Amino acid sequence: MASTKNSEPGLYWTPKGGNNHEAMFASCHNYTSVTKDKETGKVSKTTILIDMGQNEDPKDFADGVYQKVVPALTDCLAIPGQPEPEEPAAAIFLTHSHSDHIDAIFEYVQMGVELPPIYGTEYTINALRAEFIKRQIPVPEGLEMKTVEAGDTIEIGNMKVEALAASHSIPGCLSFKLSNEEVSAFHSGDTKSDQTSSLGDGRGVSLDAYRAMEGVDFAVWDGAMANRSGHSTSEAGAKEEYKKIFEDKANEGKQIIVAMPAAHSQRLASVIAAAAEAGKHVIINGGATMEINYVALGDNGYDLQEKYPDITIATAGSDEAQKIKPEDCITITTGIYGEKNSPFVKKLQGLDDSFVLRDDAVIVSPAVGKAVSEREKIEDLLDGYIEKDPDHRSGMKIITAETVKGIGSSGHAQHDDFFQDLLPALKAKVNVPTHVGSAKKAERFMQELRDAGYGTLSEYPRNGYTVQVTKQGCQIVAKEEVKWIGAKYSKKKDKDGNDVLDKQLSWSVEDDHGFSTGDFRQDNARKKIKEWQQKNSQGNNQDKGNNQNNVNSSIIKDIKRDGR
Ligand SMILES: [Zn+2]
Ligand SMILES: [Zn+2]
Repeated sequence: MASTKNSEPGLYWTPKGGNNHEAMFASCHNYTSVTKDKETGKVSKTTILIDMGQNEDPKDFADGVYQKVVPALTDCLAIPGQPEPEEPAAAIFLTHSHSDHIDAIFEYVQMGVELPPIYGTEYTINALRAEFIKRQIPVPEGLEMKTVEAGDTIEIGNMKVEALAASHSIPGCLSFKLSNEEVSAFHSGDTKSDQTSSLGDGRGVSLDAYRAMEGVDFAVWDGAMANRSGHSTSEAGAKEEYKKIFEDKANEGKQIIVAMPAAHSQRLASVIAAAAEAGKHVIINGGATMEINYVALGDNGYDLQEKYPDITIATAGSDEAQKIKPEDCITITTGIYGEKNSPFVKKLQGLDDSFVLRDDAVIVSPAVGKAVSEREKIEDLLDGYIEKDPDHRSGMKIITAETVKGIGSSGHAQHDDFFQDLLPALKAKVNVPTHVGSAKKAERFMQELRDAGYGTLSEYPRNGYTVQVTKQGCQIVAKEEVKWIGAKYSKKKDKDGNDVLDKQLSWSVEDDHGFSTGDFRQDNARKKIKEWQQKNSQGNNQDKGNNQNNVNSSIIKDIKRDGR
């Protein structure tokens, strides 16, 4: 299958997930290095994978019958019941530990697939191990998990893999440079161009390291926020903005609540740094995930209490937390998108009263990078809460990224990150986006690249396309329809009585269903027509002919207009 598309010496990139039509999830990239011995003419091939993520919206795939959907890596992993892979992957490199980049690992392990060695930073590998424990999946004997840190170079077969620091929203993020004796490529992973970090590890993107590469032949960029204007916030800048809010005389004596995404550990560290500088204690009250992430920081050499001994950092409900007055501390919580498990959201909805929320509270909730409707969610909830008792609560106020620029919480490169920092420093000959919310956005970014004089491909490479990188240039040499693995799960109750997924029950290899190309809209249209036909034939069996055509086309129009 893969043998003809990569017989010439060079590097070959095939996105297996992440270059979907209308979603950015399931990041997974196959890189194959092909070299030819000058004397014997013998061809050698080495394949690695970068990231193995899951589709975060399984409901959108194949009628939503599967609870988990991950790329089907039949060409590089030995999967039971599938043909032997032609080019088995020699290693898996992880850019970071977000689920859209690592969760396919748990599906494959439960399927009994033997995986090659997995490389990631200490933070990423620890997160992976913790996730095995949390899911009660035994780590298979023989599965090697190896650490690689920024600056390290690993040799795999005929390929060199160099790790570089990336700057995202959690610690331990990497970009990779891949090279063989012919050519080189750069894979950014999730990153912005921020060169600062609030974790005190000096970690941020090193543009000097980019410059030192002196131009790679090909680069695959995190395009999640590429269409957003301006620079993404830097952690150093965000810390200063938070500090100003904490020290603002207008907020003196009031309760200050900071909401943020539970997984944004970098931001958690920035807000705690700002609190320490403003002489405020910190109470963390954002639910289980945020607490786990805070503890994980401590376990990985980022003990913030040790770093800021003059303040107390306590988790809600602890003895220390009881001793701190709300006006003397910063309460850090979740819920910027109205997440229903957030203690803050539960409080606003009147579902749980344990969250301390005073009537003078100043709420800092910088949601950006999500749809406006989602940003308004928390504002709506707060409005509803105030309306219930306006006499007392009308003094509450909310500060968003609209009011104070520089507190937005994106971990992805925006327009100026690319065109002012990343692209001119790396000077890659050809640049393509991955991890973009839609094909349209990807194409827009590629046009911006062309307009600014940067090399790119003539077409957005979808999942299953193979790009050949040679000294002569880059081109799409194959377009194969990708497959996915859908897994069904048993359910169990968590401690709050909610249904959660338990164990993988069964799995099967599924077609793309247009997920990569956008044709799934037509699939959906066909399905709706079928449903309508069934309904219609039950009620009225006559007169189907012409009527049906009219209805069909109106359904199709509706679906097109929706655009998902
Ligand atoms: Zn990420
Ligand atoms: Zn991601």
